Amino acid sequence: MKIAVMKETHPGETRVPMIPPTVAKLVKLGAEVVVETGTGLTCRHQDSDYTAAGAVIGKSREEMLGSADMVLRLRKPPKEEIGRMKRGCIHVSYLDPFNEQELVDALVEAGISAVSLEMIPRSTVAQKMDVLSSQANLGGYVAVILAQDHLDKVFPMMTTPAGTIKPARVFIIGVGVAGLQAIATARRLGARVEAFDTRPVVEEQVRSLGAKFVKVDLGETGQTKDGYAKELTPEQLRKQKEGMARACAQADVVITTAQLFGRPAPRIIDRPIIAGMQPGSVIVDMAVETGGNVEGSEVDKVVDIEGVKVIGLGNLPGRVARTASQMYSANLGNFVDHFWDREAGTFRLDLENEIIRGALITHDGALFSETYKSIMKK
Ligand code: NAD
Repeated sequence: MKIAVMKETHPGETRVPMIPPTVAKLVKLGAEVVVETGTGLTCRHQDSDYTAAGAVIGKSREEMLGSADMVLRLRKPPKEEIGRMKRGCIHVSYLDPFNEQELVDALVEAGISAVSLEMIPRSTVAQKMDVLSSQANLGGYVAVILAQDHLDKVFPMMTTPAGTIKPARVFIIGVGVAGLQAIATARRLGARVEAFDTRPVVEEQVRSLGAKFVKVDLGETGQTKDGYAKELTPEQLRKQKEGMARACAQADVVITTAQLFGRPAPRIIDRPIIAGMQPGSVIVDMAVETGGNVEGSEVDKVVDIEGVKVIGLGNLPGRVARTASQMYSANLGNFVDHFWDREAGTFRLDLENEIIRGALITHDGALFSETYKSIMKK
């Protein structure tokens, strides 16, 4: 089985899809791995490191795509490369399928079996291949480091001969994977942390990390069977904003991570809330790339709104690219390994398997994932 690992082409992307130890793992399984020349350079992995791990270095993208049984990469494939793959080729990457209908159509047309890593179910068995979690975790860490970098105060309490410095106050909205890591990181730096989420089950997790859960009575909220938040009604969102305004006014740093599966992010912090914050405070909008939790935040920019610095930098895991690549690569390697048929010495696309049923978007010239089809119908 020939597996091609493609060099990233997305402008500004610093992460790489696979690092040499994962190549070694796939080679040990019996795969023939071809890695495009220069793939690992942004993370200091040389071609020679990949050859030492058992890969062949591919010089021609065209030839690699045309001969591979499986193509692995990080970001979605460029549209013009879809027709260059063999019919029946298995393609594994981020796909952003809800926003990329044309791309999905092209994958159907080309007969590619496209796995969208975002759609891997959040189950215990699939945790080892869950790129959303591994990358969100790092994103939460980076958000706190960025916030400290833009704040003109220190995070920890300091008792010094020059006086006592109060700890910074950090408020985190949305306590999924990213929010939990943001709480833990801000706590490690000594901040006083508060947090809020619409899923009530989160309260205990917030407390166990030494932070305070902000209570806002929104009535019935709950979560989907996969653990995702349900969308609030306009009235609930209004109530939430009232509750957020109080906590934001006291905070030095607000980090927003709220997302809704398959939908644009909810707009939680509006301009009046920002106007009520202390000048010099900092907001990090981690949802900026999916529509933004904060009114006025801009992708890849730090903007000043009412004297508050609003950080909308995208691809936060890319700021710790070497670690992010190590984790993404491990997720990808675990995915291949999980479905590797050791007797036949090949990857087996098990169409009955729950993970494949969730994440395989296109197969055999048609749409495949029922989850995807039902969300796109709405
Ligand atoms: P996410 O990125 O979809 O959303 C981030 C957070 O925003 C969520 O906690 C969500 O409840 C919250 N949110 C949505 N609307 C909000 C609003 N208006 N105000 C405040 N917060 C709001 O979430 P995620 O990090 O991908 O996690 C989703 C779920 O999946 C969680 O329950 C998590 O524990 C679970 N999970 C399970 C596994 C596993 O079992 N393998 C792995 C990862 C995550």
